[in-house]
Order: sequence, then C-alpha cells, then structure tokens
Amino acid sequence: MHTMSPVEFVIPAPPPVNLPVQGSAQRFPVRRVFCVGRNYEEHAKEMGFTGREPPFFFMKPADALVSIDPQQPGRIAYPSLTQNLHHEIELVVAVGLGGRDIPADQATQHIYGYAVGLDMTRRDLQNEMKKQGRPWEIGKAFEQSAPIGPVVPAAQVAGLGDAAIWLKVNGELRQSSHIHQLIWNLGEIIEHLSAAWELAPGDLIFTGTPAGVAAVRPGDVIHAGVDGLPDLNLQVV
Ligand code: MN
Repeated sequence: MHTMSPVEFVIPAPPPVNLPVQGSAQRFPVRRVFCVGRNYEEHAKEMGFTGREPPFFFMKPADALVSIDPQQPGRIAYPSLTQNLHHEIELVVAVGLGGRDIPADQATQHIYGYAVGLDMTRRDLQNEMKKQGRPWEIGKAFEQSAPIGPVVPAAQVAGLGDAAIWLKVNGELRQSSHIHQLIWNLGEIIEHLSAAWELAPGDLIFTGTPAGVAAVRPGDVIHAGVDGLPDLNLQVV
C-alpha cells in the first residue's frame, strides 16, 4: 500500500489564493488572473486608439488580488515608483470549467460566477513601457493591484447584459457605462482567450474598463460597482 507523506517545503510556501463566494461558506480557489485590454470603445479612444482591434490579454499574479468584504470598507496601499495610479473598474468572470477553443456560444457553461474588480494601474510606468516596447508588468502586475469583491455564482446573477458599471472617487462619478458597451462580449472574450491558453477552473478574467480612468491619491475613497453584484468600497492608503 502506498501512503502519501505530507509535502515539506525548504522555504515558507505561499498560502493558496482564494475568494469568498456569496451565499456560501466555501471558497473560490484562484488559479490565474487574465485581463483584457481596451474593451470599451470610449476607453480605447481616451487611450489613443480607434476602431475594433482583436482582443489582447495581459496577466496579474493571483496574489495581486485583495479580497474586499462588501460589509466593510477595504484598503489598498499606494504603490511605489508611481505618480499616476489609475483606477479601472471591471466586471470579472470566474471560470468554473476549463477548456480550450471554447466557442463563444458555449462560453456560458464555463462561467462559475462574477465579481467586481479594479485593475489598478501605474499609468506612468505602463506608458513608459509602451513607448519603449517593453512588457507591462511594472505598470499592471504589482502587489495589491487587483482589489476584488466576492464571487457571485452565475445562478444568482440576473441579466448582467444591461447592467451599469460605474466608479466614484470621494463621491464624484468618474466612470459610468454599461456592460453591453463591451467591444468584445464575455463569450467572445472566452473564445479568444481559450484559443491562446487552455482555461482552467479558478482562472479569473478582468474584462476591461470603460472611459474615465484617472488618478487616485492616498486618502481617496473608491466606491464602485456593477449593478447586480456587491459594490466595492475601499480607501487608498
Ligand atoms: Mn484594465
């Protein structure tokens, strides 16, 4: 008979990343965090692009997530090296069933649920990397760059297609749009993403931000949401 002995590590092992699930005591285990770039027309324009380009993707490490409890305000730390930390409110898709080459019309069965997330961006560093043709990680993939609310199972979410997506800073509305304004809808995102990567249970997909991205400073309070999902409340400290 074969007995597994417990794994021992030579250095402290990182804790597994997971998120609360609304209405459940069980947790959602996070594997990878994919993000879609420029997926709302008005935001693509404000970033200097026009027209429909194929969707493109970048990633954040799973431990860049900061779980925000909808019952109490959360906090993220203002990161190093930037003078221009931008907020990007996004609808997040939580993948429950993996697969490759998933057709858009079958994507729904791969979605476990949804969350509201922020793709925090060191815009000055990202712009410098763009200019130099270098990778974006320093602008996108830093610690605490992805505050996120609980995962809401898809069965508990009705009609996100018409949902508003919005973000306020210190009470002032900065971003306001609708999920139906997505250039590439959720099915199309999953079709393109699963052609490039084999999706796996636990993957998260940040689906892009609408126009109105702008800077926050330490002390600012962010209140943001997608109608039908719990709001995000957090302070930059
Ligand atoms: Mn984004």
